[in-house]
This record gives sequence, structure tokens and C-alpha cells, in this order.
Amino acid sequence: MSFRLNHVHVYVLVHNNEVALFDTGLDISGSLNLLKKDLESIGQSIKAVRVIYITHAHGDHCGMAGLIKKESGAIIHLSSAADVSNRNYSNTDLLIPRVKKFYQAHGLTSQEVDKTIAVFSATRNIVAAFEGDYCLQPNEIREFGKWQFEAVFTPGHSNGHICFYFHKEGILLSGDTVLPHITPNLSPDMFDENFRPLENFLKSLDIVGNLPVEKIYPGHGNVMGNLSARVRELHVHHAERTQLVIKCLGATPKTAFQVALGVFGNDLPDFDKFLALSETYVHLLDLKHKGIIKEEQDGDILFYRFKGSA
Ligand SMILES: [Zn+2]
Repeated sequence: MSFRLNHVHVYVLVHNNEVALFDTGLDISGSLNLLKKDLESIGQSIKAVRVIYITHAHGDHCGMAGLIKKESGAIIHLSSAADVSNRNYSNTDLLIPRVKKFYQAHGLTSQEVDKTIAVFSATRNIVAAFEGDYCLQPNEIREFGKWQFEAVFTPGHSNGHICFYFHKEGILLSGDTVLPHITPNLSPDMFDENFRPLENFLKSLDIVGNLPVEKIYPGHGNVMGNLSARVRELHVHHAERTQLVIKCLGATPKTAFQVALGVFGNDLPDFDKFLALSETYVHLLDLKHKGIIKEEQDGDILFYRFKGSA
């Protein structure tokens, strides 16, 4: 990938010369050829792909699904929330006004908002248009050849995220729910105001943390063991982050971006500004739902303050 996170994994199952893919990689120049070469290196081809399972509707995971389907007729499986999200986010006429309104309301300047819109538009350019063919149900068991796996719904990093759990082998394809070294980014859903990323993510961590898993195959980074330790680390990270957000909110009302500058520092590159804001907002949203802080509107801008503060 051309981003800081320099790669994404596509996992492959082969049975009788038929191929199942888990995630696809993004649609940038050269990526389809790279996937073709990799499949050839194991004696397979893109035409042999029968099924595609998508962990979530972010471009790095689903970007080539449409291209692969075109060449192979593969059936695309994902959650209905991911399917809806893919449809919504690919409609830039719908998306851009929402991005603009949201990031403006939470304290970015109009220049910063324009840069954020450019990022959102760019992230859609890495997704070839596609529609899901089959919506997975929570805990649905699927089979491919000798393999059996369960669709474990793990919303949080994204609304419709799914991990794939192979009971017999003790393997979890964790998508972006559990990653080594980095904490998965949490950000609001521009099309679902009721979606609470942090609360969902922490619940999802507990769901996967309770599975008897030997090996985790993440969307990014190396294969790892010791799932419960990683889950604990991610819980600790978010508990500490919440405390830092509370500290940075302080005694006077602040926008989410003002709090984010306290949390992440003042000299953020443009690309990081809206990510920092998103992460901070997700924590503020949680504190608001817990009744610890409240949100107040002043003109078009939203401010947060502790309940009971002046
Ligand atoms: Zn990813």
C-alpha cells in the first residue's frame, strides 16, 4: 500500500483448485497484478476464485473485490452493515456534505475540512465499485472444502466488521479488530449517528478474547499468538486514552478538535488532524452516553463540557 501502513494481507484457502479469498487489498496501480502473481506462485489463478469474504468495508480490505469478481465471477460475502456502508461511502454526493458538516461542527477550519474531504475522496478511489452478493449472519458457519469457519461479528473499528474463526484449527482471521503493535483506528460512521465505535469495539474485543484461539492472522502485521494478552493491552490503551481525554477536556467547554490537540499535540500533519479528531470524538461520545459530559451547540459548532460545570 502507498500509505504509512505499507501492506494489507489477503488470506487464501485452496480446495480442489478452487480459491477462497479473505479480503482483497486495495485497487491501486499494480495491486491486481501482484495478487495474480502471488496466486500463480501457489499454482492458482484469479479465475479460480469462487468466494470472497470481506472483513470490513475499508478500501484496503475490499478495494479489489469488484475487480476479482469481474474476472472470476466470485461471490462476495460480507455483513449487511458493511454492504450498506460500502454503498453509502461510495456515494460521494452523499458523503461529502456529511464529512463537511461533521468535521466543521467539531472544530476543524474550513481549510482543514477541505483537506479532510480530499482524503475521504482519495480513500474511495482505491475501491473498485462492487456490491455484496451474500450477507453473512452473526455466528453463521460457512464451509470451504475441508474448512469450517464462523463469522464472528466484531463492530468497532468499522460498523460491519467481521472476524473469521476456524474452530478446529484455533485460527482467527482478525481483520483490523486485533492488530499487533498498532491500535485499530476508531472513527464515527458518517451515516449512522447511533453507532458508538468505542463501546462496540470493547465488547468485540471481549467476544474474540474469549475464543480459544492459537493463532491470529491480522489484516496488517505478523501472525501472532496470545490473543488474550493483546486484548488486555487494547483495553488498557482505551482506558488510559479515556482518562487523557477527560484531563484534556478540563474545566472549560471545548470542541472535539481542541481536546484532540491536547491528546495528540499541536503539530499534527494534516492527514493526522482528522484522525486525531475522530479518535477523540469517539471517546467523547462514549463519555456523553455515560452521562459524564454533555454536548452543547453554539451556532454550527459543538462543544463538550463536564456535567455540572459552569
Ligand atoms: Zn485495514
